[in-house]
Amino acid sequence: MRGQMQELFRVALGLATPWVVSKIEFSEEQRQLELWLDFPAGSRFVCPECGRGGRDGRDECGVYDSSERTWRHLNFFEHKTLLHARQPRIECPDHGVKTVEVPWSRPGSGFTLLMEAFILVLVRGGMTPTQAAGLIGEHDTRVWRILQHYVEQSRAAADFSEVTAIGVDETSRRRGHNYISVFMDLDSEHSRVLFATEGKDAGTVRAFKQDLEAHGGRAEQIEEACLDMSAAFIAGLRAQFPEAQLTFDNFHLMKLLGDAVDRVRREEQPTHPELKGTRYVWLKNDWNRTEKQTRIFDELRSSKLATVRATHMRSVFQDLFAYDSVEKAEPLLKQWYFWATHSRIPPMIKAAKTIKRHWAGVLRWFTSRISNGLLEAINGLIQSAKRKARGFRSTRYLTTMVYLIAGKLDFKLPAIAQVTHTK
Ligand SMILES: [Zn+2]
Repeated sequence: MRGQMQELFRVALGLATPWVVSKIEFSEEQRQLELWLDFPAGSRFVCPECGRGGRDGRDECGVYDSSERTWRHLNFFEHKTLLHARQPRIECPDHGVKTVEVPWSRPGSGFTLLMEAFILVLVRGGMTPTQAAGLIGEHDTRVWRILQHYVEQSRAAADFSEVTAIGVDETSRRRGHNYISVFMDLDSEHSRVLFATEGKDAGTVRAFKQDLEAHGGRAEQIEEACLDMSAAFIAGLRAQFPEAQLTFDNFHLMKLLGDAVDRVRREEQPTHPELKGTRYVWLKNDWNRTEKQTRIFDELRSSKLATVRATHMRSVFQDLFAYDSVEKAEPLLKQWYFWATHSRIPPMIKAAKTIKRHWAGVLRWFTSRISNGLLEAINGLIQSAKRKARGFRSTRYLTTMVYLIAGKLDFKLPAIAQVTHTK
């Protein structure tokens, strides 16, 4: 019976010769299961340096010494499970004394591979690292270390050689603090986060280019880039990706005009009390106003309020993007510019001049048809992860989460289908 149990666990753990399960201890009070793994006296191992004996096993190296180690494994039902083993060092005639890695864990980890796979599944499934740590009863620093390892390892193998269209946007760890820049592949088939890094200046674009090239990408292959109108990103992209045509992201253009409309309302409100409490009446569109907002809009739309005229300018600008070609849209954009700059509404004049300064990139959309909509969607996921985690302790943790959520990384871990005996 004893021997059968040991054989059962040997199979369950996927152990190959010479590894065997030598002892099993189960404590109901401590809610703990402990397994001792061992190799028989006289066992020989393949040299990790030269692979001596790897093919036929005849030439393997003898054990020099060993040291006791413990690994945390998947819970056995509600019982914490620990594996103990002596990790051998062999003596190779060519390479001297070398540590042999055990097959159930990666070097230096205190967890088994299956435990690490389980943690990754939890976090990718929407748990915060702190929640996952709580579930398995470990400090979250250990969980973060695992996440960072797999992100780094899988990013090292990622291939960016096909990337031709990129998008960049920024997000922050806390509102207004610790910005990171996120670069995306905008190809609809492989859309994913390529790179995330601290900062939001021209230096971040340079760092992205280096990373892209380290993954087989080529700067001169980047034909299209989507961004907001930030001067740092514009300068960075022009310098590092001279072949790329810049498209200013629609979401950010509409935000520019929305902010201008809001400023008009705030300036007008002191002399026009009917504008009180109407902020969203002007920021929304015909199709998404509530009933009450529609009523207020209809009451005020024929007035001479600057807010009403500014709102009209905003929606006409938005409607330009329904045209199917730059030939049709550009003359209308010129008319719009004339209208806005002659409106005598300072915030609208200012916004129109910003559009004028970015003219080519505003119109590029009619050719490239790219937007950072996907990035905005990812940003939504990041914000939600941030809320759940009540912020991240470091920028590095935030970038790790970004890759986990949107990097489409291949972690090369044991199939989690085996993880069926865990609560
Ligand atoms: Zn060797």
